[in-house]
Amino acid sequence: MSKGLTTPVAKLSQCCLKKSKRSFPGLSSTRRGEIHMIIGPMFSGKSTALIQRVKEDEAAGLQAQMVNSSRDVRYSSFEVVSHGGATRPCHCIEKLWDIPILLGFEHFSRVDVLAIDEAQFFPDLASFCISAAEDHHKKVIVAGLSGDFRRKRFGQISDLIPIADSVLKLTSNCAMCDMTSGLFSLRTTSNWENQELIGGPDSYKPVCRSCYTSAWAEQTT
Ligand SMILES: [Zn+2]
Repeated sequence: MSKGLTTPVAKLSQCCLKKSKRSFPGLSSTRRGEIHMIIGPMFSGKSTALIQRVKEDEAAGLQAQMVNSSRDVRYSSFEVVSHGGATRPCHCIEKLWDIPILLGFEHFSRVDVLAIDEAQFFPDLASFCISAAEDHHKKVIVAGLSGDFRRKRFGQISDLIPIADSVLKLTSNCAMCDMTSGLFSLRTTSNWENQELIGGPDSYKPVCRSCYTSAWAEQTT
């Protein structure tokens, strides 16, 4: 499992992950841990909703930290940028267990809210979020895709649903018929091989069930 871990941060992260009860110095045990999820297809407003929740928590006096996956730097490597144009400073990282190391344990201990965007890309999503909420009493807000372009499980998003405090599924208007809600992310490029294909409106459309099944049948026949 440790093969391929070459950087000091990666080794420290793996070390943290191996601990059965992860304890960082100075962590408060007075807060109550929570896990909230914002899921949906591409272009359904997940990042906008995540930024809004962070603003609300900060207005209530909580200290928040936002992170995004380093795999998705379509718009910025230091900000979460919603498709609607809202922005918020963030750290772009490969693994979530890098957060306490990146921030420093003292800073990490003072963070009340961890907001995670593009959560489907994090390989340690479930273990980190459970520990952050249940061992370290953080409020964790996770935003990510409800499924991949084949409507299959994407990363560890679905693993968190049974243990989340709340799950909000967002939709958008169907980009093909504009009559009903866009529920699924239809890939519009010829690359139907790889699950991960970072892209924007040139690569994906949010579509309703009827349009998805019609397009899928057309692509596969
Ligand atoms: Zn439609």
